Formats: sequence, C-alpha cells, structure tokens
Amino acid sequence: MSEDRVPPWHALVPETVAERLGTDPVRGLEATEAQRRLKIHGPNELDPDDPVRPWRILLAQFTAPMVLLLAGAGVLSAALGDVPEALVIFLVVVLNAWIGFRQEHRAERAMAALQEMATPMATVVRGGTSHEIPAREVVTGDVVQLGAGARVPGDGRLVSAHAVRVDEAALTGESVPVDKQVSALHPGAPLAERTSMVYAGTSLVAGRATMVTTATGMEAELGRVAGLLRDAEVGRTPLQQRLDVLVRRLALAAGAIVVVVMGLGAARGEPIDTLLLTAVSVAVAAIPESLPAVVTVTLALGAGRMQRRRSLIRRLYAVETLGSVTTICSDKTGTLTQNEMTVVVLDMAGERHDLPEPGSNGDVGPAALRGRPTLRLLLAGGALCSDATRSDDGTLLGDPTETALVAVADRYGLPKAQLEEVTPRVGELPFDSERKRMTTVHALPTDTAAVPGWLSELLGVEHLTAPGGRLTFTKGALDGLLACCDTVDVGGELVELDESLRERALAAAAQLAREGVRVLGVAMRVYPDPLQVPDDEHVESGLTLLGLEGMTDPARPEVRDAIAVCRAAGVKPIMITGDHPLTATAIARDLGLVGGGATAATGADLERLDDAALAQLAATTSVYARVSPEDKLRIVGALQREGEVVAMTGDGVNDAPALKQADIGIAMGITGTDVAKDASDMVLQDDNFASIVAAVGEGRVVFDNIRKFIRNILSGNLAEVAIMVLGPLMAMPLPLVPLQILWLNLVTDGLPAMAFAVEPAERGVMERPPTPLGASLLGRDRGRRLITRGAALTVLTFVPTFVLWQADDEAWQTVLFTSIAFAELAGSFGMRSERVPLARLGVFSNRLLVVAVAATLVLQVLLVVLAPARDLLDLEPLTSGHWLLIVAIAFAYLAVIEADKAISARRRYTAS
Ligand code: ADP
Ligand code: MG
Repeated sequence: MSEDRVPPWHALVPETVAERLGTDPVRGLEATEAQRRLKIHGPNELDPDDPVRPWRILLAQFTAPMVLLLAGAGVLSAALGDVPEALVIFLVVVLNAWIGFRQEHRAERAMAALQEMATPMATVVRGGTSHEIPAREVVTGDVVQLGAGARVPGDGRLVSAHAVRVDEAALTGESVPVDKQVSALHPGAPLAERTSMVYAGTSLVAGRATMVTTATGMEAELGRVAGLLRDAEVGRTPLQQRLDVLVRRLALAAGAIVVVVMGLGAARGEPIDTLLLTAVSVAVAAIPESLPAVVTVTLALGAGRMQRRRSLIRRLYAVETLGSVTTICSDKTGTLTQNEMTVVVLDMAGERHDLPEPGSNGDVGPAALRGRPTLRLLLAGGALCSDATRSDDGTLLGDPTETALVAVADRYGLPKAQLEEVTPRVGELPFDSERKRMTTVHALPTDTAAVPGWLSELLGVEHLTAPGGRLTFTKGALDGLLACCDTVDVGGELVELDESLRERALAAAAQLAREGVRVLGVAMRVYPDPLQVPDDEHVESGLTLLGLEGMTDPARPEVRDAIAVCRAAGVKPIMITGDHPLTATAIARDLGLVGGGATAATGADLERLDDAALAQLAATTSVYARVSPEDKLRIVGALQREGEVVAMTGDGVNDAPALKQADIGIAMGITGTDVAKDASDMVLQDDNFASIVAAVGEGRVVFDNIRKFIRNILSGNLAEVAIMVLGPLMAMPLPLVPLQILWLNLVTDGLPAMAFAVEPAERGVMERPPTPLGASLLGRDRGRRLITRGAALTVLTFVPTFVLWQADDEAWQTVLFTSIAFAELAGSFGMRSERVPLARLGVFSNRLLVVAVAATLVLQVLLVVLAPARDLLDLEPLTSGHWLLIVAIAFAYLAVIEADKAISARRRYTAS
C-alpha cells in the first residue's frame, strides 16, 4: 500500500490510530517507550528561534533620536576638521548603542525566561496512570487527557469526548468554538471540519476529552503556521513610550536653544565653526543618553523581584502599572481562602448532621448508614459525581470541592472506587461556572442478580425494579439545582417538591452559608431503560433532590494583614465569587474585607442594572457573589469607567475576557487554565492574594526609583545646557566640549542610576495613595524641584569657574567638568528620597550606589591624572587647591538638595 493511500487519522477509528502509533488508548505508552521516543524525535516545541529577535533591538538603538543626534554631532566635528574628536564621538555612538543593546536584550531575555516559567503542562496517561508533565515532553502516541481550559499540546485523534468545544482561532481563524466528537470522518474532510481531531495550539473551551497524540512539535499543524503565530511582540511599556516622548521634546527644546545661541553668536560675529561646535555641544548636553537603557533594566529587575515574591510578570508594562493599581478584584476560593475543603455538614429534608472532626468517629461510619437510604445516596452521589481520584499512594487528586465529597463518602465506608465498580460512569456533563453544577451518568448492572445487596439498599426498593438502566447524579449550587428538581427524597420516600420543601431547603442552605460554609446540593434521577437518558440539554431535569453537603474552607491567615495593607495603601480589595452571597459575606467579614452589616451584590442584581447603574453600584460594593465570568467583565468595565486601575484574578477559560480587559490580568498559577494564563499579564504562582499586594508594593518601589533617577539625570542635563548657553553670553569660550558632555551623561549619570534600580522601598510606600497612571515622570511638584536643582548645580559650578577664567586660570574648564561630575555624584545620595533626609536614610544603606559612585569617582580622577586621557578630553592638570574647591562644590550641592527637602517638608507640614 502506498503512503498516500493510508487513510488520514481523522478517518480512522481510535483503536486503529492507537495501534498504528504503537500505543494503547487506555494504558498509554510505557514510560520507557515515551523516553525513547522523546530522544528520537526531540522535544515537542516549535523551532527554538530566539523570540526576542536581537537584531531588532540593535536596530532600534541606532534609530533612537539621540543616537542620530550624536552621529550628527560626529559628522559636524569631522567637517570642522577635528578628526580625533569625531572618531571618539562615533566610538561613543557605537559603544552606547552596544551597551543599550546588551542591556535591553538582557532585560528582554529575562522577561522571556520568566514567561517560560509559565510553561504549559499536559496530563498524559503512561503505563496506566496519569502524570502531569511539561507539554514539551509529550511524544507521538501519548494518551493525553484534556479538561476545559487546557491548551492542546500536540495534534491528536480523540478517543473520548464529553461536551467538548475547542477554540481553533489560532489555527483556522474561526472564532466560534468547534464541537468535537470521536467517530471517524470522511478522509477528504478539510482541517476545519475534522471534528474527530484536536490540534496543537488550540484550547478546550468546555468539556473533557482524551486523545492519542498523532504529531508533535514542528510536525503538528501548528508548525506549518508557526511563523504567523510567533508574534510574542515585546512592545514598549507606557513609561518607555512617555520617555521616548520626553527625549524627543528635549531634542526639540535643544534645537530651539541652538538656534537662539547661534543667532546671538552670529550677531556678535563669531566664526561659523565655533557656532557649529556650540550647536553640537548644546544638543549633546540636552539629551539624557543613558536614560532609556537604565529604565528598561530597572523594569526588568523589578520583574525579577516580583517573581521572587511569587508573582510571575508576563508583560513588562505590568511592573509599572502594578504600582498604580487602585482596585484588586480577587476570587475567593484558593486566593482569599486556603482551598482546603472539608465537608462538615450533611443536610437532608428534616435532618442535619454536623460531622465530628475528621479522625474522631462519633456518628460516622458504615453503621451510621443503616436505615438511612437518603444519607447513603447523598454521599454516594457526591462521590460519584466528581472527577477526584485516589492516586496509588492513597492521596486524593482533583478539585478540592470534589476531593472533599470523596473524602466524606470514605468516612462512611463508601469508597468511590468501589461505587464506580458497580455503576461505572458512562456519560457526563462537565462543571462550568455559568451553570454552577455538573452531572454524571452511570450504568446499572444488566443482571438483577448481579446487583450486590448493598446497592439494592443504596437505591431503595422501587428504583431497582429496572435493572440495566441508568442513574444520573447532579451536584452544584442549590439555587439553580432546585429548578431542575421536581421531587425530594425524604427518608427514602419521593415527595413532590412543593413550596414548603423548597423553602426549607433554601433556608437550610442560607443558614449554612451564614456560617461561612460552602453548600452543594446533590440530586439524582433513575432511568429504567438506557435509551431514556435524554440529551445533554435535558439531562438536568426531573431530578430528585437528595440533600446538601456543606464544606468549610478556612481563610488564609496572611490575607487579613494583606487586606489591612491594601486599606492603608488606598487600594480597594474586592471579592468576586461564584459562591453563595451569604458564604461570601461571612468569609469577607472574617477577613476584615467588609464590616458587619455589609451585603453582597449578586449576579442576578447585576443583570437588572444598566452600565451606568452598575458603575454606581461598583463604587460602593466590596463583595460580589453568584457571578458568572461575564459579570466579571462587566464589573471590570464599570470600575474602569469610575477611573479605577483594576487588577483582576481569574482561572477558568471564561475568565479570559475579563483578564484581558483588566489593567492587570492575574492568572492563578496552580488552579489556572492555560487559556487564563495566556490572557494574563501576571501569573500568581501561589494563588495567594497576599502575593498580589506584595507585587503592588514592588511596582510602587520601581516607579519611585525610576522617578528618582530621572530627576537626578535631568537636573544634570538642565545644568549642562544652562552652562553651555551662559558661557557664550558671558563672552567665554565654549565651557565644555562635546566629549566631556558625553562623559558626564553616560558615565557620571548612567552608573549611579543603575544603582537606583535596587534602592530599597521608602518607608510608607504602602501608606500613601496610588500614583495615578500617566502621572508626571518628575513627581508631584513636576518641574519645580528639577529647576531648583538644575539652577543650583548651574550656579554652584559655573560661578567659581567663571571667576577662575577671569583670573586666567588655564584649568577653569577642567574644574567645571570635574565639579559637575563630583556634584552630581554627591547629589545622587540626596536624590534617593524626596522626603527623608540623607542622615536618616543612612549614607551606606544603598550599597550598590556607594560602589557605583566610588567607581565613577576613581574614573573621574584618573581622567584628570593620566596624561593620555587628559589630552583626549582636552583637560588640564589640577592643583590641590582646585581639588578642594571641587569637593566643596560637591558638598554644597548635596547640602542644597537636603535643604530643599527640609523646606518642602516643613511647607507640607504647615499646609496640613
Ligand atoms: P469560587 O468563586 O468560590 O471559586 P466557584 O465558581 O468555584 O466559586 O463555584 C461556584 C459555585 O459552583 C459553588 O458555590 C458551588 O455551588 C458550585 N460548584 C463549584 N465547584 C463545583 C463542582 N466541582 N461541581 C459542581 N458544582 C460546583
Ligand atoms: Mg472556583
């Protein structure tokens, strides 16, 4: 048979596919065989192309406005005949671009590495048991289990599929999810219609499935379109964009100043080459050459620090946006609580059992079931209608809500495995957070005689008149479940669900919820004939309510403190949950999130409100309950319209739109689906609310620090421009040559600025309101501080130099150059805080700054002391008198900064 006549996978039945791929649809591959295949075919990845595309970053360096400006300066110098200077300027251009490239590339590599840590996992069956492995280790022939929200790790032929819908937009561009099934199709079916296959890169929107992997890596369909998909564009953050704007404005301002200076010079009859040199120098002086690279590095370092506090940053802009967050919308289960569920109450019509602590026996155990058929069914139903499983070593795996149900059935001597042996699951309707319930269908033994005695008791007498039938169990939120029931099992008797019974059930659930207990209703239905089981849409109807299972989920102890921190920091914490409103408020109260009389807004409330009314409600509400993922999206929108900067957590597939809409979308690292992670800006590795608050704190520190060095660098630039203009006005020669200015901007400014990236948090960062998004980069009093400091630096350095020049001291320019450098270095200590005096900060408390400043000082001194360096930069030797003057100027500048701080602190004090 020739190769092209082999029917394609989608046209074969699953058994044949498995056979051809040398695997078993139930047992999967053996572990050793999987290892062997991985070695032969390599990992399941697209071509390991560097996603950061270094050449782009490099190119960006050379197209930056200031590099162009410098290059222009170099050309001018050359035209003026100063070839060595031109060469050095070009060298600086290349070096600067190279350093900028290295730093940005490293920053982006760090980001890419962080993203990689959020690498998707896959659940494979190997040797008969399921394992979580990194998706890159999946091989052809692997049997993979897929749940709602999972990303499909490779192409695969479906072996089983329950209510599966797949988003194939990544592959086919089709945005409507596609229904999938298992039967074989016509061989000629086009890709988009192969409903018996799922493809790498797509994701399950709903349902559960098992597939046999048919292709991985570049051989998967995704490999063919991989080029299209790899647009993991890095993008510039808003801060970087604003910085670009700032630099462009500075360049324009410099241009204007150049025109004025040249005009003045021309009027005085200066020669053209002096004019041009002045122009070049002013332009170089105005541009903060080191700023963009330093900002990028600071953001990346911030992302690294957040990661150490369990928040994985997926997009760099999140680092700065986090500092501006005003509202954190959080899930309840697992984020505010521990997600350790224990069933503590069983409630059936007319009787409530409060269970003793696990471990103690009391009225628990097989004996307690005697003569209580409803209790037995309630427990069995809860355990059977769950996806929790027991691993070989006896631990329960799965959603904590479901493991709790299996655990409590165990306590009564009803192990799930034994129950399933008798009535295996043959169908299901998976849980989704819209319906808030799930259903499983089970087969009854066909032979009445084969039904063990305990099962006949389990089902009650009249149920067993129909052996070989089907049994369905449904569990979920009681409010919705009641609408699917028309009878109630009262002590083994079926009683019509009338108003009073409905009231009773709701009252019992409300009572439990008030105690902070999470309540699940369990119902069932018997179909004597397998053919009677209706389709998915109708299977949840005509049910018999068995009772309620109530479980506790203790609050995370550290969250209480984190909520207090939020309060102090002007950040509003909001709980958004699918749970019962009373359960939600009870836990919110316990956490200090709301006060005594607070109530929750429910999904039903939201439905009645238009967007304007919702915005009003959102301004005053802290707890939302019984919400659907769609409501989440509306809540984010409403808060944003109120001007809030919103961080929102999510885990499910349906949360993706809300995560994208939020200013910071936060996916759960543990319980989150791949889809939610893809849509997020940040992944919370420990699912813990307290980690979000820590990340907000880090975000504020990063933004503070960036502001600090921007202020420091720009006041230096301001002074340089002022001096370059003042000099000619006072009939002096050009005060500084372009190379000296470049040195000041790159070395003297750049090195200490890097140290600001690790400046520790100022006291009280989380005790002041959030900085608005898009707030001035310069701080609250914007230009004032900058101008004061720039002016101080100008006066302190220029006046003594002017005197030296008038006294015909050859070294006047060298003194000016060195004193600006020293003053800026000294000043950088003062700039570490806008409020706290340096004496209180401690001179040595930022060790990296001390090292950076010391290193720069040494370089600076070497420039003047070593003859070749001195010649290159047009410097003169200095006397000890000169050095004393320079040191005095530096301390004077630091003193001015400290005095300015003290004065504005007093002003703030008297103003309030
Ligand atoms: P939360 O916001 O606490 O995470 P969920 O969306 O998990 O809320 O749950 C909302 C409601 O859905 C719960 O109160 C419960 O009634 C129901 N529910 C939760 N998990 C399951 C499940 N595995 N099976 C059936 N119903 C569930
Ligand atoms: Mg949940």
